[in-house]
Amino acid sequence: MENREIFENILCLIEQASTVLPEDVSEAIRRAIDSEEGGSRAKRVLEIILENVKLARERRLPICQDTGTLIFYVDKPKEIGQSFISEEICRAVREATRSGILRPNAVDPITNKNSGDNIGIGSPYIHFDEWDRDEIRARLILKGGGSENVSIQYSLPNSELMAGRDVEGIKKCIIDAAFRAQGFGCSPGILAVGIGGDRMTSFMCAKEQLFRRLDDKNPDETLRNMEAEIYNRVNELGIGPMGFGGKTTILGVKIGKRHRVPASFFISVAYMCWAFRRAEIVFKI
Ligand code: SF4
Repeated sequence: MENREIFENILCLIEQASTVLPEDVSEAIRRAIDSEEGGSRAKRVLEIILENVKLARERRLPICQDTGTLIFYVDKPKEIGQSFISEEICRAVREATRSGILRPNAVDPITNKNSGDNIGIGSPYIHFDEWDRDEIRARLILKGGGSENVSIQYSLPNSELMAGRDVEGIKKCIIDAAFRAQGFGCSPGILAVGIGGDRMTSFMCAKEQLFRRLDDKNPDETLRNMEAEIYNRVNELGIGPMGFGGKTTILGVKIGKRHRVPASFFISVAYMCWAFRRAEIVFKI
């Protein structure tokens, strides 16, 4: 049984994510433009990015040709089944792909065959949670492949970085991730970090930070201070937009944590490009 309400809301969510950069991200790019030297390549790159963002919004076109991996997080009332919502999400994804809002991005890793409609094994990724409200909240991240390629996971202690299992060791890993990227992954980026967990949940924790606004405040004081310090230190590296040099290597740092087992200590850095596409919709059915 089809549900027009869910289908249309999810289609709207996908279009919003693909074509409209969130205001807090645009604002961070605007501030970065002001901070770069007049006539510098860094300033020009950021201006071009913002022009591109404006055109995409006006013409309802994808902000970037790589519309990325689709990561949905859905909160739902317990009376509504997951498979019921999943089917409508897949229908909306097919329609968005057919209309050009999404690029066909689901490739079988063995045959290299593209499914053509973004539907495949594990694609789109849909995470469900139940809540007590009588409405559905769907959130979507479009995670670009280039930025995913420079994402990285560390295991502490790390002798190469001389990083121990402490706050200083954690900071060394995160700053190293930005240094290694050297502007690849389409900087200025956002460092979304998961501390602890196991290898899988550490990266999940990192990616969940991408649902946060750039201007929010981490409720954990230690993590909040770490975010501010790393933001400043990485931007002092001088790598700059797309690696051209400048003051803007990253637009933000967002850090979460999970309890770990005593034997393991993972730091996962999900690097997100400037095309930080994030959208949310809440609706009743
Ligand atoms: S990394 Fe981001 S900005 Fe760069 S091509 Fe991929 S989606 Fe686009």
